[in-house]
Amino acid sequence: MGSLDTVVVGGGLAGLACARDLVDAGRSVVLLEASDRVGGRVRTDEVDGFRLDRGFQVLLEAYPECRRRLNLDELDLRSFYPGALVRAEGAFHRVADPTQEMMDALRSVTSPVGSVADKLRVAVLRKRLGGRPPEALLVEPAGTTWEELQDSGFSPQMMERFFRPFLGGVLLDPTLQVSARLFRFYFRVFAEGRASLPATGMEALPRQLAAGLPAGVVRTGTRVAYVAPGEVRTTDGQLLQARSVVVAVEGPEASRLLGDRVPDPGSRPVLCLYFDAPEPPVKEGILVLNGEGKGPVNNLAVLSEVAPEYAPPGRALISVTVLPGEPHWPLAGGTVDPDVGAIEAGVRAHLTEWFGDQVGEWRALPHYHIPHGQPLQTPERMEPPSRPVRLEDGLFVTGDHRENASLHGALVSGGRAAKEVLRTA
Ligand SMILES: Cc1cc2nc3c(=O)[nH]c(=O)nc-3n(C[C@H](O)[C@H](O)[C@H](O)COP(=O)(O)OP(=O)(O)OC[C@H]3O[C@@H](n4cnc5c(N)ncnc54)[C@H](O)[C@@H]3O)c2cc1C
Repeated sequence: MGSLDTVVVGGGLAGLACARDLVDAGRSVVLLEASDRVGGRVRTDEVDGFRLDRGFQVLLEAYPECRRRLNLDELDLRSFYPGALVRAEGAFHRVADPTQEMMDALRSVTSPVGSVADKLRVAVLRKRLGGRPPEALLVEPAGTTWEELQDSGFSPQMMERFFRPFLGGVLLDPTLQVSARLFRFYFRVFAEGRASLPATGMEALPRQLAAGLPAGVVRTGTRVAYVAPGEVRTTDGQLLQARSVVVAVEGPEASRLLGDRVPDPGSRPVLCLYFDAPEPPVKEGILVLNGEGKGPVNNLAVLSEVAPEYAPPGRALISVTVLPGEPHWPLAGGTVDPDVGAIEAGVRAHLTEWFGDQVGEWRALPHYHIPHGQPLQTPERMEPPSRPVRLEDGLFVTGDHRENASLHGALVSGGRAAKEVLRTA
């Protein structure tokens, strides 16, 4: 072990990106991952012929760091329709992206989701945010997303019916108290490229990154209990020594391992329910948003309409995202485990209003409660937009909590940590 350059703790996207850069630079690396495989929050389980991502997630093809690091062609991507169906006033209304689906956008001008003035404001915003690289939008100071939308003049109707469920689902925060840096960044990447799923599930991303690592680098089933500069101890008592240790675990666990130097970033939880249905309730690959402000469902998609490979032939896979909120999942000032049985009953009742009695035929598949879906990303917590990755000689930290909670942010932070290791050790 004396000749080992770096131990990376954690095999999510950040740890994998870091390990890849170090290996590419000729360093000897071992990556220790607690679970049975790499990917962290980006994993896919196969159950009865269904592909279940651990929570509803998509690859935005315009993410700059995904374009740099991943071979998108090899991911065999299946794309969502660029827009959404919004449930409002007891009916579904199509909101189209005017740059990508012009005819639908013209039709949606008369929908009750946003006024014509709102659609013009979208165009103004697009002009204001266009022309700059998406990453530059993360750097400029900002207040909350809610304030920024209000300051941009959007109508309460557009805020409540579209932005709250749409951005609330992306940022796991329906209060939209997230820094507007994230809103600006997402506005740009959604406008520039499609939202897609790999045919074999989102885990194809970390799998592709890990495939570029030499055999023996990744050790799964190995949980780290203790870290110090140049030293790592696993829960089963192994001691590994190396010139550098990079802690690439999720924010709360990083705080546990590293103490005060990395304060716990807080957590945005999320619950994803999956259903197996004989017929798709929506016969297209489109995001469905709850614009009515009541009921447990935030957003829904028939994933097998986006990627037929997500379900066995003749079946439909429905993904339903539930965020904490009154009365279905009160947080009461902290992270409280959801009552999944009660929520599922509420979701079925909610969706029966939308789709009728067919919901009674849906079979519940495994669900995913993710207590740490994303770190909190309020304006104060996003200041500065990139937090330090070098703690002291021989000890580094990386992960989405150092950058921003996205596939892009995790990959960027992994690359940043590798650069610091190479610069200093
Ligand atoms: C439901 C959901 C939906 C999302 N949707 C999107 C989306 O659509 N688009 C988007 O861009 N982003 C999305 N995100 C965010 C994105 O997935 C994360 O920001 C990103 O994957 C974080 O990567 P990471 O490497 O920083 O952390 P993680 O993926 O959490 O990786 C940390 C790794 O460390 C391991 N580990 C923890 N403790 C130890 C230990 N003691 N010893 C060894 N290993 C340990 C864990 O097992 C894990 O593998 C979503 C997240 C969730 C949960």
